[in-house]
Amino acid sequence: MEEPIRMVDLRRQYQKIASEISARWNGILDRTDFIQGQDVRLFTAHLADYLSVKHVIPCGNGTDALQAAMMALGLQPGDEVITADFTFAATAEVIALLRLTPVLVDVSPDTFNLDPAAVERAITPRTKAIVPVHLFGQCAPMREILDIAHRHGLYVIEDACQAMGADYIFPDGRRCKAGTMGEIGCTSFFPSKNLGCYGDGGALFTQDDRLAEKLRQVVNHGMKVRYRHDEIGCNSRLDTLQAAVLDVKLPHLDDYNAARRRAAGFYDRVLAGCALLKTPARAAYSTHIFHQYTVRLDETVDRTALQTALNEAGIPAMIYYPVPLHLQKAYRDDRYRDGDFPVCERLSRTVLSLPMHTELDEEQLHYITENLLRSVETCRK
Ligand SMILES: *Cc1c(COP(=O)(O)O)cnc(C)c1O
Repeated sequence: MEEPIRMVDLRRQYQKIASEISARWNGILDRTDFIQGQDVRLFTAHLADYLSVKHVIPCGNGTDALQAAMMALGLQPGDEVITADFTFAATAEVIALLRLTPVLVDVSPDTFNLDPAAVERAITPRTKAIVPVHLFGQCAPMREILDIAHRHGLYVIEDACQAMGADYIFPDGRRCKAGTMGEIGCTSFFPSKNLGCYGDGGALFTQDDRLAEKLRQVVNHGMKVRYRHDEIGCNSRLDTLQAAVLDVKLPHLDDYNAARRRAAGFYDRVLAGCALLKTPARAAYSTHIFHQYTVRLDETVDRTALQTALNEAGIPAMIYYPVPLHLQKAYRDDRYRDGDFPVCERLSRTVLSLPMHTELDEEQLHYITENLLRSVETCRK
């Protein structure tokens, strides 16, 4: 094999667009418009077009986006925010930082996404918002979640950090991009995300003019007018160099996601017959853009031994996520009882994510799947 197998291969993707990136970066260096430069305006306008959303508000990263969303909606200490127990911690982190109360709920075993019935059961008079996470590149069941939110008068803040470009498909065939259905959508441009820059970056989406204005104020020190601070805000910006990278990559996003889907299709076909693992389910209501390709191993498979065997063969494989939030020291809460999250606990014991990026070729995919099929048989508890 010419290239080592990487979990995420940013280098080869970069090489294909290197000259465009250099040209754009040279332009910025000439203009020195490093903050709020013209590439930021260009990229946010292009992204709004791509998503068919009225407002895109750039910010510093995905975590800031989630925080700004909760600040702009005026959530107050003690308000309860429902989110998934099986996700990257950033989602719950900002809830806790704002002294809101994270209320974790279980997910569906096949899609890894919020279980609407569990959401409904978690609602109390203090609940103010639901944060569905479109995990691993597939939309959460938004129709059910929006319906619950509507019936209970709750906000929906979408964590679309792993799902840039995924479509939610409503029963009448109407499609909406992940992040454009709730009051506010949040995304991250962390380098390994489906649309990633070369550092940190993030954005918020909304269809609501008033919320957009509020969000712009929140991420800019609470200012509407320069040096007039009406509210306490924060400082969170997408820098111009990163916006230029994103503006170069955005026209390729659908192709990038198609390349991921092709790799996933290969994994699906070759791994389908294996009784010791389950390939990821495809929900009928969402396209899947495979931020991660995550299999579930049979409980008899020794995952640590399997991961070691793959690593020794030069195949990286990662565990997203090894510990559900309710078992993390920082997010322990007496209100949770043992067995409250059976699905999340089982997933965290059995999931394994395989290499997934835009540059995987057939030779690499053959090599990965051959090794996986062989090792999964020998690595038993
Ligand atoms: C990456 C990620 C975030 C945080 O994004 P940053 O840009 O790293 O702050 C939040 N939620 C989810 C689900 C993510 O995958």
